[in-house]
Amino acid sequence: MVDTVSLYRAPTTPADADEIGEWLDRRIDAEVRIRDRLLGSVDTDFAEAMAAARVTDPYDPKTGNTMVGIVRYEERALDSPGRAGGVVYDGRTVQRALNPRLPTDQALDHLHLPLLDRVLGTWGDHDGRWHKRVAVLGQPAAVSVPGLYEAPAKPEAYYEAKSKHALMTGDAPPREVLEAEVDGDFLVADDPRTTDALKGYVLAAVDFVETGTAFCDDERCRLYDAHRQPGVVRAQLRDPQFCPAHADRYG
Ligand SMILES: [Zn+2]
Repeated sequence: MVDTVSLYRAPTTPADADEIGEWLDRRIDAEVRIRDRLLGSVDTDFAEAMAAARVTDPYDPKTGNTMVGIVRYEERALDSPGRAGGVVYDGRTVQRALNPRLPTDQALDHLHLPLLDRVLGTWGDHDGRWHKRVAVLGQPAAVSVPGLYEAPAKPEAYYEAKSKHALMTGDAPPREVLEAEVDGDFLVADDPRTTDALKGYVLAAVDFVETGTAFCDDERCRLYDAHRQPGVVRAQLRDPQFCPAHADRYG
């Protein structure tokens, strides 16, 4: 049983750890503690681990390398997190790399749950490619804020509107243009619904450690791992919050 959850802030993102923590605290028996950003200090060992965790090819399970230039880049990205855009990291390697950064208490009854400002992926043995993830479950459990925008696929019309706009202006279209042109709801970078949408993923991370079950099959449930953006909106932002079984447990 989990009796303590440490939830780590991601201050460079719109995710509000305090609000997520309060929501979580009302649903589980464990004590919820809010802690500062886990990637907040620069050290070369961790920068090397992140360099080695970089996904370099969407169809190659081998990840990055620790050439000096890449390690320096990772050090700078720890120092100023805004620089880390565009890179996908192997979530399993990142979990292992985070372990030495955790406070000394690493007992199984204390789940560490960093919100991260990096995009994480896991390798799919079944289809031979990397998949971006919102949450990589385990200890520590990692929840990627940009993963919320990038991992679940947006509606096809979004990609069409985006490439049309890019052809005309060379830029990404503003949010208002996309919303006007694309049916179906989806989250974009820095979406004001970020905090609310992440709550279910954080609870899913606790649920996994408690029950050994990863996510829920019911697409109405906050513990559902939606593969498409309209599914994220339905699971996280629409009623009901939970399927009947999880409503019993967490409702
Ligand atoms: Zn459920």
